[in-house]
Amino acid sequence: MPIDQVSILRMCGGCRHEIETISVKKDNMRLFVDDKVWCEHCQSDQPEIRDIAGRLDTIRTEQRNYPVSPTSGPPVLSTDDEA
Ligand SMILES: [Zn+2]
Repeated sequence: MPIDQVSILRMCGGCRHEIETISVKKDNMRLFVDDKVWCEHCQSDQPEIRDIAGRLDTIRTEQRNYPVSPTSGPPVLSTDDEA
């Protein structure tokens, strides 16, 4: 899957029934829309709400990239030329 594509979950604003999952370009992603969508559960037009599908997977991936522990400080150079 191209990396600039995101899956958007379209849901009924009334009962949160999942209508469909669409794939859009990240640049065109809109999570807040004024559209109405037909919900078969409510048997009526309901305000559409959207969420990013697979958001949990994204978080899990990010958590895997934890910062590496810093290495111990720079080696101390001893100048022992006075002997
Ligand atoms: Zn509904």
